[in-house]
Amino acid sequence: MQNYGLYQWADNNFIIDQGLIKVNYGNNPSLLEIIKKIRNQNIKGPILLRFEHLIEKQIKTLYENFEHSIKENNYDNSFHAVFPLKVNQFPGFVEHLIQKGLPHNYGLEAGSKAEIILAMALNRIGAPITVNGFKDYEMIDLGFIAAEMGHNITIIIEGISELESIIQLSKHNRINPNIGLRVRLHAGGIGIWAKSGGVNSKFGLTATELIEAIELLKENNLLEHFRMIHFHIGSQMSEITPLKKAIREAGNIYAELRKLGANNLDAINIGGGIAVEYGQNEQCIDRNYTIREFSNDVVFLLKEISEQKGVKPPRIFTESGRYIAASHSVLVAPVLELFSQDYQLKSLKLKPKNPPLIEELNDLYNNINQKNSIEFLHDSLDHLESLFTLFDLGYIDLQDRSNAETLVHLIIKKALYFNRENQLPEMKKLQHKLQERYLVNISLFQSMPDFWGLKQKFPVVPIHNLDQKPIRSASLWDITCDSDGEIAFNYDNPLFLHDIDVEKEDYFLGFFLQGAYQEVLSMKHNLFTKPNEAIIEFNENGYNIKTIKEADKILDILENIGYDKNKIYKNLKDKIQNSSIIHDQEKTDTLAIIEKYLSQNGYLRTIN
Ligand code: PLP
Repeated sequence: MQNYGLYQWADNNFIIDQGLIKVNYGNNPSLLEIIKKIRNQNIKGPILLRFEHLIEKQIKTLYENFEHSIKENNYDNSFHAVFPLKVNQFPGFVEHLIQKGLPHNYGLEAGSKAEIILAMALNRIGAPITVNGFKDYEMIDLGFIAAEMGHNITIIIEGISELESIIQLSKHNRINPNIGLRVRLHAGGIGIWAKSGGVNSKFGLTATELIEAIELLKENNLLEHFRMIHFHIGSQMSEITPLKKAIREAGNIYAELRKLGANNLDAINIGGGIAVEYGQNEQCIDRNYTIREFSNDVVFLLKEISEQKGVKPPRIFTESGRYIAASHSVLVAPVLELFSQDYQLKSLKLKPKNPPLIEELNDLYNNINQKNSIEFLHDSLDHLESLFTLFDLGYIDLQDRSNAETLVHLIIKKALYFNRENQLPEMKKLQHKLQERYLVNISLFQSMPDFWGLKQKFPVVPIHNLDQKPIRSASLWDITCDSDGEIAFNYDNPLFLHDIDVEKEDYFLGFFLQGAYQEVLSMKHNLFTKPNEAIIEFNENGYNIKTIKEADKILDILENIGYDKNKIYKNLKDKIQNSSIIHDQEKTDTLAIIEKYLSQNGYLRTIN
């Protein structure tokens, strides 16, 4: 039975049992059971499930691994972490993250004014806040206000002009936030997001600027507030080697800056970058290291450099985001329709007299066997090309063309069957010709923008029927009017789904590892908005669907993009009332129908 690569990407968070995807926690509910409970409350369409226990698991694992490495290496300093808000700012995630982070003194990272305000409002006093990104005077002022509130905040400087704002603000006799400097490393990252690191990166101070910054801090009596250096070489680091290079470089910069008199500098912030395994098969592995290898390497290298340079090892900070957030949410969506390319024998309508090539195709179909299957297959594909040419030239009619397509598809099916143990690439490619298009009630632009923009893959798995063999090679269509809204057939690793009749049965697909970046990067293409959302918490009695938030209603969607919703409603009402086509006695009913539609979300609704 197909396992959809769970062993690789699911990190034991989900299991397959009795044909269902189940949550591997508490009373092991199936995703189908959870979805049905939500749908019974008349919430249909795509549903984003957030699992609180998976947020807690990731936080714990991060701390446990670093604490283990620190102990094992006799590292003479501590580990700290902040969550970068840019990865997921939504309350359904952040509020639980903060609660579960309390025992670890887990903090937040902010990269904009809105994020710093969020961090100031939500972060526990004493838990660290780091501030990255480009800042104006006002944003730095917010950092001072946070420090005056009692927050343990570090403003990380991206350029000398930001330092000048700090100098100006500190003249007003105020409590100073900690100062950090982002260093521009020579070492770069790897993968799609590698450009966050390296000499040409958008961020950080060069060696010359670092020296200039130290001088400025000294001149203005602020050097004592300089506590941290920071770097981030890019998200989703697929290999560990670039990180090791970056740690060596940053460790040496740290020691050199201390030599220049930065005596209170005692922390290195290594940014984010721990990769998540999204791959669904052995040929696509996204990460060549474990979290333990990662923490061991960071701790070991920083210890080694500190010993070599005779400085106290730094406190270690991470801003890991994707690793913390990705696994906690799953998007489950119903398949609405199958656009079949499957040609059945019943559609073959041979004539009493057929063109010779069709007769030949018919012979191939009737006589194909295990031994001759590849040869017959090649012949049939050749014949099909010739028949297309004959059609274009007007020598055969539409019925002949239909018969040709049907016969060739039937031959492909037989050839695939005879070669089912044969892993020839050609056989995989043939699935392309038989693929089925599954129309799924989601917008890829809204729910998986990184797939649209960067071809970032997310595991896709039917959440039920897993005790039956999936036999249809599939591509997925979303419901936007855009041909980019497609997870196209993958020649190397075709997705196989079940042969179902959606008129008679529900079929749900789960899109996993949705929790990092996707929600906030989402696009309202075709005015599809955030899907429905439900938070699942586990307790001693099983699980509880804590909060259900329905997707935006159509009138609200229009208001959100700037329309006056009362005006929109009035226009519709006036047009119904003034219509000479709708009978007067039907106008009230028509208006009621419109009102119902306006108060529903924009996703498609199935009748059942
Ligand atoms: N810190 C900084 C400065 C970043 O720019 C980012 C992401 O780009 C992160 C942390 C989070 O990275 P990740 O989600 O890969 O852990």
